Amino acid sequence: MTYPCGIIRDLLPLYIDDVCNEESKQAVHNHLSECEKCRSCYKAMKSTEGFEDKRSDNSEDSKMASSLKNVKNTINKRIRNIALCAVAAVLVVIVGFNLLFNAAIKNVSLEDITVSANVYSLAELIETPADEVPNSESVTIFSDENDISKAVQVKIPELGTITLTEDTIEKCQYATVISVGSEYFLRTIESEVKDNTIYITAFKTTLLNSKALDYQKQIYSLELQEINRIVFVESDGTENVLWSR
Ligand SMILES: [Zn+2]
Repeated sequence: MTYPCGIIRDLLPLYIDDVCNEESKQAVHNHLSECEKCRSCYKAMKSTEGFEDKRSDNSEDSKMASSLKNVKNTINKRIRNIALCAVAAVLVVIVGFNLLFNAAIKNVSLEDITVSANVYSLAELIETPADEVPNSESVTIFSDENDISKAVQVKIPELGTITLTEDTIEKCQYATVISVGSEYFLRTIESEVKDNTIYITAFKTTLLNSKALDYQKQIYSLELQEINRIVFVESDGTENVLWSR
């Protein structure tokens, strides 16, 4: 059965969108194979369909979609920027805190430092064999091996009791306790021992120059040898003798 061209052309949009029933579809198909005019009409509609699709990119819906996409991109960028800023801020706080309170940055002038030392003969300070004294009461310094039977207790004034091996006692005749005092909280003291002299190259405190409130802060260190001089070496090489005996 053939249909008039008018009916077929009314059906063409449904045929193109593939939403008509099988019977209509077959009818349109058959008509198009026989009717030149309707075929060219079909081709024209089919090609404008693509044009309309392209045009629909500029429709309100697609404008909305693309502006939503832009908003989403902007928000993502902002979130990323906020996260980066937060990480940077945390880093700044950590670095800043360390610079202010921990980093050894500022040199302390020599007038703000007092240095003294006491030299003791190790033999005079030996108390008891180490295994007769509870470990909890002593600081242990083993220079060679961790063998308690070869250790001796040494009671050093200012530092308390330390444990040394017999080998250390034989090699080291003296113990020198060095004390550095300053009202500043010292972060770094760089020193080197040559012969019987300690050479100090840096007394440093923090950027804030934090001070101890009501007492002279003392730092003690121990050299297991006889120290006769403590010298401060300035950056130009000038030597200042801080203590000697
Ligand atoms: Zn026709």
